[in-house]
Amino acid sequence: MTPQRANNNMVTIAERLNNAYDRIAKAEQNGQISDPVQLLAVSKTKPIELIQQAYDAGQRLFGESYVQEAVDKVSHFKPLRDIEWHFIGPIQSNKSRHIAEHFSWVQSVDRLKIARRLNEQRPTNLKPLNILIQVNISEDVNKSGCVPSELESLAQFISESKQLTLRGLMTITAKTDDSELQQQYFQQMKDCFDKLKAQYPQIDTLSMGMSSDLEPAVAAGATMVRIGTDIFGKRQ
Ligand SMILES: *Cc1c(COP(=O)(O)O)cnc(C)c1O
Repeated sequence: MTPQRANNNMVTIAERLNNAYDRIAKAEQNGQISDPVQLLAVSKTKPIELIQQAYDAGQRLFGESYVQEAVDKVSHFKPLRDIEWHFIGPIQSNKSRHIAEHFSWVQSVDRLKIARRLNEQRPTNLKPLNILIQVNISEDVNKSGCVPSELESLAQFISESKQLTLRGLMTITAKTDDSELQQQYFQQMKDCFDKLKAQYPQIDTLSMGMSSDLEPAVAAGATMVRIGTDIFGKRQ
């Protein structure tokens, strides 16, 4: 698990994936949900070869953050058919069409304008786009995501949009050494999620937790964690 071992070696990627799944399994023992927690392998900035190695090791859910590089990767892997691509990066409205055309999930919807564009731009021959609303739970001015008070109207719009399917919530929490504060944010997200689920019983996904904080996220009720560094190595 040391960063030096992040070379282009198939065994290493497979081992790293195994380690991540082991961490999740351990964390699940303290968790609150019965369904297995899903692992999104975050492959942003990483080459096709490493994604192929993760795929060969059985991984099927991948996350990307930068539109142009993501579209190239999605196109490259299209013949495999069974990869599920999640867009997790900030969305500029002039790039939304590429996202609507190439992804099956978008986890970073945080405003009405983007939801509206994705709905209009999702090709009608494709299944509706699965949507997570990104929540800025710490209400940090430097971070994207809607604040909890905006959730209701955004959720309503998405749930009424024909080419979108509301699936739940996503958050990115700031790196912090204050584990109590971190737990508090994860718990607040779980509360938001439960509240939303009372209104929209079909939602099933709470995406939170990354390489450095998946354990407290799963303990608080995450149904999906997003792991980049611990699988593919450090990014530039
Ligand atoms: C990059 C990224 C991740 C992965 O973070 P790691 O710390 O490398 O595991 C997860 N979620 C989002 C939204 C990201 O942009």
